Amino acid sequence: MLNADYLTIYSKIEDLNIKKFDEKKIFKLRSLGIESISDLLYYFPRTYDDRTNIKTINQLQPDEYAVIKASIVKITAPPIRSGLKMIKASAMDGTGVLDIIWFQMPYLRKSLKIGEEYIFIGQIKRGYVFQMINPEFKLFSAQQKMQDGEILPIYSTMKDLTQNTFRKIINDFLVIFGGRFEENIPTEILKKHNIMGRKSALKEIHFPSNSKNLEEAKRRFAIEELLILEMGILERRFSTDKKKSNHYVLDDKKELVKKYLSSLNFSLTDSQKKVITDIYKELSTGKIVNRLLQGDVGSGKTVISMILLLYIVENSYQGVLMAPTEILAIQHYTSVRDTFYDLGIKVGLLTGSFKGKNKEKLLDDIRNGNIDIIIGTHALIEENVEFKQLGLIVIDEQHRFGVIQRKKLRSKGVLANLVVMSATPIPRSLALSIYGDLDVSILEGLPPSRKPVKTKWINNAMDSGIMYNFIDKKLSQGKQAFFVAPLIEESDKLSAKSIEELYEEVKKSLHKYKIGILHGKMKSADKENIMNSFKKKELDILVSTTVIEVGVDIANAAIIVISNAERFGLSALHQLRGRVGRGVDQSYCFLVSFTDNAISKARLNIMEQTNDGFQIAEEDLKLRKAGEIFGIKQSGFSDLRFIDIIHDIKTIKLVKDTCEEYLKNHDGRFDNEFLTIDINQKFQEN
Ligand code: ADP
Ligand code: MG
Repeated sequence: MLNADYLTIYSKIEDLNIKKFDEKKIFKLRSLGIESISDLLYYFPRTYDDRTNIKTINQLQPDEYAVIKASIVKITAPPIRSGLKMIKASAMDGTGVLDIIWFQMPYLRKSLKIGEEYIFIGQIKRGYVFQMINPEFKLFSAQQKMQDGEILPIYSTMKDLTQNTFRKIINDFLVIFGGRFEENIPTEILKKHNIMGRKSALKEIHFPSNSKNLEEAKRRFAIEELLILEMGILERRFSTDKKKSNHYVLDDKKELVKKYLSSLNFSLTDSQKKVITDIYKELSTGKIVNRLLQGDVGSGKTVISMILLLYIVENSYQGVLMAPTEILAIQHYTSVRDTFYDLGIKVGLLTGSFKGKNKEKLLDDIRNGNIDIIIGTHALIEENVEFKQLGLIVIDEQHRFGVIQRKKLRSKGVLANLVVMSATPIPRSLALSIYGDLDVSILEGLPPSRKPVKTKWINNAMDSGIMYNFIDKKLSQGKQAFFVAPLIEESDKLSAKSIEELYEEVKKSLHKYKIGILHGKMKSADKENIMNSFKKKELDILVSTTVIEVGVDIANAAIIVISNAERFGLSALHQLRGRVGRGVDQSYCFLVSFTDNAISKARLNIMEQTNDGFQIAEEDLKLRKAGEIFGIKQSGFSDLRFIDIIHDIKTIKLVKDTCEEYLKNHDGRFDNEFLTIDINQKFQEN
């Protein structure tokens, strides 16, 4: 049952018949995405003009939001990576110097004046001196009346809707409707964590009485928003946990698995064994497995998935392995096809390029249970793929798939177990929240006798020459090399090498060797042929786009050269580097980049210093924004408006624990009409 207050706050503003808001203004609000009263009162200030608290530069603390009054003494526009434009101003207030940096706002250069005094509002970052990035600012004029004791909200509005008009609209609606916003966080949670009530928080977030209350209000909405997401994730989790899975027998014999293990030319590491045993155990309890397996690039996750799939088949169920690229799916398929065939197990391959009769036959075989293990790409989540009895879904390189794809595949075997594997480690605390519906296992370390890949950043033409000589020597000793070019748009051809150009360059420098070329637009049969020839050492060099970024496993490849390395994020570089160092020999990674960009340089330095994926992930977080991290975009976490999931791990953890405790005490259910509707809306949009 919905109560009247609920309906009111979700009513369309134009239906309210409030005389003083004329059509025109309502129309303007709509173009800001504001339709209902709830939209309007949840349209929070972008920042505040806090005249009560102007700080001096020598008082600043890193990460705080501050208001500064300072004069600009210098303006420069240092050149940085193409596509990004930066303006840098040095500002002084008599107590120190602050660097003010604006990205992508070249037009500001004209309006900023040296010698003038400005008010800057923004977050303080560490740098050579303290910095503010993209702050709000305005000219300070002495005649301006100081509005003592007032913290004024500043909204993102549009041209002909001034801050003052907007403030007035908000204020009027707050007065009339603010009282209808019933509390939507359960009282027990509010009390326990000392969270500001909804009605006061709405008032304080728009018109703060003081900065402490403002902080409290912000915290409340961050928690409210996260709670919606987390309760949704965890409720689903609780309900799957309640369902009993099929019964899997923890049979000591495990004939298939044993035979498969003896076909391998290595034995499992302790960490691999532990992960497998843990999952076996969970399967045998009849609980549905929901697990994220994180292990650095090259740590040996594929073997684990094969063993689990065999185990499921031995229990008379079908298994699925889904990979993010066709190349990877083909590689998984060809690596086990023959061995599995000898074991009497039928493996099928399904990718987007399967059409017509072959595909129909394959789909029939899957439906009838003639195929035991099916390996493929996202083509597997298509409507018409049906299974006879699906027991296990393994998703490789999970960070490339979102929650939605996971859910779709899941729906094909409601009682099926799910193991997702990822080599893009995100810090555990973050992983636990984002994948709140999954348990997390970590595969520690790498198989023995691996040597860390030696990494060198090549930043000038002379070193590049030395690099080619070095590679020549290695190739003449029978090693193989990858050369990787970034994907580029036609329009930025000037600043990066295309794969064809790279191919020509490699051919000129290393003409003695056989060179193949591989990119995403090729036909799948051609891709397969090229990969096979490289694997069989018919080719010495593979020039490729990033289609080889994830999963590709060729032990004899000991060198990877990444051109225009500044174009890749840290996790992509780490993944690419993981294509080598898979055998016992020393491997090498060359990052070719003549960049001047400070962030790119920082990335390349980190790559030279460490091979540890978890450390790289932590550094990556510092250099990036949340939305840019793989896997987060699709999780719903990047849509959060009131919380910064990277820097606010503490709040995330608090909310997760709170939700878990609440659901435990309430039979896995969260019945709050205000929040649950929001949840449904959120999930429907997905
Ligand atoms: P990733 O975790 O990146 O998916 P893979 O599963 O591709 O790693 O494994 C990398 C390589 O290590 C493969 O060639 C695989 O055969 C090999 N490998 C896996 N486990 C072991 C082990 N216990 N000992 C030696 N080599 C192993
Ligand atoms: Mg892999």
